[in-house]
Amino acid sequence: MLMRKIYIAGNWKMNKGLQETKNFLETVIPELNKLKLENVIPLIAPAYPFLEEALKGSYGSCMQVSAQDVSVHSEGAYTGEVSAGMLASLGLKYCIVGHSERRQYHNETDATVNAKILKLFENHITPLVCIGETLQQREEGKTENVILSQLSGCLKNIKLLSGEEIILAYEPVWAIGTGKTATPSQAQEVHNLIRNWLKSNYSDKVAEKLSLLYGGSIKPGNLQELLDCEDIDGGLIGGASLKEEDFLEMVQIGR
Ligand code: PGA
Repeated sequence: MLMRKIYIAGNWKMNKGLQETKNFLETVIPELNKLKLENVIPLIAPAYPFLEEALKGSYGSCMQVSAQDVSVHSEGAYTGEVSAGMLASLGLKYCIVGHSERRQYHNETDATVNAKILKLFENHITPLVCIGETLQQREEGKTENVILSQLSGCLKNIKLLSGEEIILAYEPVWAIGTGKTATPSQAQEVHNLIRNWLKSNYSDKVAEKLSLLYGGSIKPGNLQELLDCEDIDGGLIGGASLKEEDFLEMVQIGR
């Protein structure tokens, strides 16, 4: 049986400045170093200005660092944008794309997400791609269609061979920052749908190896039951990833 990597991924969003980033790592890294983590990958996604500090503070440990977004452009007159090449020049290995907050506040579409994935691939950065339905879409019974269309839009012309080139996160929009987690069976149902889509559109190998995270109001108290589901390979965690002790507890649960 192929083992999938489990990610405990903290999406810090627009939280934590320089000193808080340093403090977090000074507390968390020595504790992580005491744990023998084989299949669990702890990851944090600080804001752009603190990525370098986070990389420095994590150096030599198992902690991975991710950006929260990237530009669709390579370089030039795009004020405020950061390219995949710039992220790669820092030594960054991961980048979140398609988060529902980017889709909602910055009008990102599946086509934008697709273009960002291509840029990240060109720069050897692993994209962590978020998909998920809104409350209205769920209530109208459209969850399956929404997920399948996001998958085919985001992954259009994206070649996957090993399944480890990319990470997917199912984040129902109604569960993000609301305290309303999807039940394990609601989450598992969608994860299974995604896994089957990967099987038919790529291969058994890709579907078996690709880490499929759940996100939306995860906390130490509900992580275990989600990870117990067959197709859930970790979490993309916002609010609860900001506290050192909660983050560490969730890494331990993922073990
Ligand atoms: P939350 O955020 O854990 O605060 O709900 C998750 C996310 O947006 O990735």
